Parts: sequence; structure tokens; C-alpha cells
Amino acid sequence: MARQSDGTDHPVRLVPVTVMPSESGTLGVLQASEHIGFVPKRVYFLTHLPEGAKRGAHAHRRLRQCIVCLSGGVTLEVIKREHRSIHRLDTPGTAAILDAGCWRDLFDFAPGTVVVVIASEEYDPGDYIRSFEEFRQWEASGDAGIPYLDLRRTPADVRRDITLALDDVVQSGTFVGGPQVAGFEERFADFCGVASAVGTGNGLDALSIALRAAGIGVGDEVILPAHSFVATALAVTAVGAEPVLVDVDPELSLIEAGAIANAITLRTRAIIPVHLYGHPADMDPLLEIAAARNLFVLEDAAQAHGALYKGRPVGSLGDCAAFSFYPTKNLGALGDAGAIVTNDSRLATVARSVANYGSVQRYHHDRLGVNSRLDAMQAAMLTVKLGHIEAWNARRRALAAIYLEGLKDIPGLLLPQVRDWATPVWHVFALRVPGRRDSLREALARASIGTNLHYPVPIHLQACYSGRWSAGQFPVAEAICSDTLSLPLDPTHAEDEIHRVVDAVRRFFAA
Ligand SMILES: *Cc1c(COP(=O)(O)O)cnc(C)c1O
Repeated sequence: MARQSDGTDHPVRLVPVTVMPSESGTLGVLQASEHIGFVPKRVYFLTHLPEGAKRGAHAHRRLRQCIVCLSGGVTLEVIKREHRSIHRLDTPGTAAILDAGCWRDLFDFAPGTVVVVIASEEYDPGDYIRSFEEFRQWEASGDAGIPYLDLRRTPADVRRDITLALDDVVQSGTFVGGPQVAGFEERFADFCGVASAVGTGNGLDALSIALRAAGIGVGDEVILPAHSFVATALAVTAVGAEPVLVDVDPELSLIEAGAIANAITLRTRAIIPVHLYGHPADMDPLLEIAAARNLFVLEDAAQAHGALYKGRPVGSLGDCAAFSFYPTKNLGALGDAGAIVTNDSRLATVARSVANYGSVQRYHHDRLGVNSRLDAMQAAMLTVKLGHIEAWNARRRALAAIYLEGLKDIPGLLLPQVRDWATPVWHVFALRVPGRRDSLREALARASIGTNLHYPVPIHLQACYSGRWSAGQFPVAEAICSDTLSLPLDPTHAEDEIHRVVDAVRRFFAA
């Protein structure tokens, strides 16, 4: 079922249309962004309806419609799951906007009625469902499963705004860099509470370019948590430095200052704390060590857009931070994208140059750079989504609260913890299920509930690093990888879906 960005369902919306009567006749205006709710691809109209006519009596799987009665009158009936409503349309001053997946009937046409229907898709016979019974079956089949994450659930209003924003980009003729990118960088820097943001091609590049801009390379050591996505380590390897892993805290699965202090050598130049799963790392003790040893602190905030540490946004805590906008992240693009944020304007300038062929002035290359820039298309859509991120993060917290309440006090299941200094953004809701993770995962799969593993293999046991570390060296990270299970948690999940997951997990432990 399509959902608004706040997560509520709305199969039919009545929207006031701008109608301007004057002595020379009446002018009505429907705008895609304000009234229609999607980008139109087809318009058709109904006229000369015989008395007693009925139209409609079908549903569309994907197509959305905006129906306006220009003269006369017609009754519209809309059915979607438990929703059923009847509307009398008899003025061009009101548009009825129907979501995809609605059953609709049009009847009781007044004489001389003219109806215009604006559609979101071109004609596609496969999109129609013409029997009510088949429609109910189709709805029920959609109920069967709860996906771990389904990016097709992007709310209709956000989809519309993205499409309109992308059209602006196509019109602008500027596709790499340009005002869209600069505008997004400024907004994203504000969002993180820092002075500058530099767009990059992806999150891995954001990390490695930040390290290069800080002058870290061959002969240097960089400390990072043994439990993270592999990119954190690969970024260090990419600049020729040595990744030094330290085991994580078993309660939060995050890097800890105590472990860092033990790993510092004369060659240590930087620390990369990772705000994994959307929960910030405990930064103050870490920053104290870094200050005492003059170490560069690069936050890996790829999973934590908008998370707060003691009320301050992640990304503003270290010397610099790297974000990813990979589509599945809390703020996701239409492809790969990333950003570096910092209060250090010199670092930002160098990072921008590294990302742009080592160049500040065109065709003059001061350093050996790379090509890793933010596309205007990604910046335009990220700007649209940035307007929703606070609401989406709040919804993630509300859904996490359902899990935390519904799954408490189950022996053999460890819930994720939240420190009182943290406002997490729940990129991942990761349970620990020692000894029974795989059987819980299978039981949920049998109930058509999608889950994920973050991550099945720890960094130090990845084949790409074979010979570098050995099994047993980071026991906490290894335990997390063997007993952690991620449950569905995305702003597009309905509360009801989360309750169904809770029930399925409880059934597993009761059996
Ligand atoms: C996703 C991610 C990255 C890498 O981002 P990409 O955009 O996929 O390159 C780095 N670190 C962490 C913790 C991540 O989750």
C-alpha cells in the first residue's frame, strides 16, 4: 500500500483546485507538484455519457489518477483494503487523487457531465485488474510478506518531487557539479552543523579522500573498529596506510576509547570511529585521546545521518566525517553518492581538489587526484529527501520502540542498547541471538519476513585481507558476526508490519 512520507495510508485525497472565474469565463489550473501528486503521462476525458452509465469498475496496479468533474456531476466509489469511501464530484474546484491499487467505480452521472482523468502512466493493459474478486486476491498476495527493505515503497509525494527535481536537472544541462550540487552541499553542511560539505561519488571515496586530504598515506597507521562494513578498512588500505583493527564493545558493537589507547603506536595518525547501525560512538573519551596524541579523527557516519551525540549531530564531532548516500542508507540517492563534511575549510578545499582530478583551477593539477564527484541528479534528489529525513528518522525511532517494547524480556535474545547520551537513527535494528541466529532467520523466512546480516563475515576474516589477521584475534567482532540478525525497520514499514515481526519472533522463542 502506498504511504505518505509520515507513513499513513491515503487511497484517495480530495484536493482543492485553483479555479478563477471572470467575465471572460472560468480558468482552472492543476499543477503536478501542488494538486495532482504525480507527473502526468496521459489525459483522457469522459463526455456524452448515456443515462444510467457506469464507468470504472476496475483497479490499477501501478497507475495513479487525478479525477476532475468539469461540469455535471458523478459519484466516485473507492475501495482499498479496509478503506471504502464515496465522493460526489460536481465541481471543477475539487480533484480526487487516487493512489495505485484502488478499486474505483464511477456512476450516477448527471446529464451533460464532463470528466477529465489525468493518469500517471501510459496505457498498459497489464496494469488493469477488471474483476473485483481478482483485485481482492491481488491485495491479499501483497500482504503475504514483510520485506527487509523495499525501495519501491518510496512514498508517492516524494516520488513526484524527485521526478520534478530530475526534470529540472535535465533542463539545466549541468550534470556534474553546478548549482544543484552546491545547493545540496550547503544544506547538508547545515544539517550536520558544520561549515562545509564536499560531495563525492560514494561513501568509500568520501572516507579515502578525507584521509588523503589529511595527508595520511604510506607508513601511517589508522585505528578503526573490527566490526564495521568493510569499506571503513578498504579506505585506509586505498591510501596506502595500515588499517589497525581494535575489537568493539560487546554491548553497543562500537569502538571504545580504552581499546584505542592500547592500539596506539608511534605511527598512528588517525582514528575512524564508526557510528554503526545509526548509534553514535562514545566520542568524548575518544576525542580526548586524539587530542593528547594529535591524531586525526574521521567519523564514518555512513549509517548515521541525523544521529545525535549529547545533542550534537554526528559529522560535527571529529575533524571530518564521511557519509554515504547509497540507496539503502537513511538518506539514499538514486545510485552511488557520498559526502565529506568538516569545519576545517582548508581540509574541505583540499578534499574537493582531490575528488576533482587534484585540480582547483581547470586543467591545472596540483596533486594526484581522482574523479569522484557528486552528480547534479543525485544532489537534486538528495535535496528532496533531505527535507524528509528528520520525519523519517523519527519514524525509525517510533518503529524501533515497538520492537524494544515487544521483544523485551525474552531469554536468549539480546536487544540493541541505547545510551542516554545518544539519539540513534536506527539504520539497522540488530538483535543478538547467540546460538540460534540462523534458526530464527529461517523461521522468519518461512513466515515471509525478510531479514539481513550485518555482517556475516568480520573484516579481519575477509579473503581480501587473508594473511593480515587471524581467526580469534577479535572475539567480540566474530561473535557479533555469528549471532546478529537485522529485522525489517524502514520508515515505509507500517506499525502493523513491525507488530507482525514481533509476534513471529515471540512465537519462535515460545516454541
Ligand atoms: C555504506 C557504508 C560505507 C560505504 O559507502 P558506499 O557509498 O557504499 O561506498 C562506509 N562505511 C559504512 C559503515 C557503511 O555502512
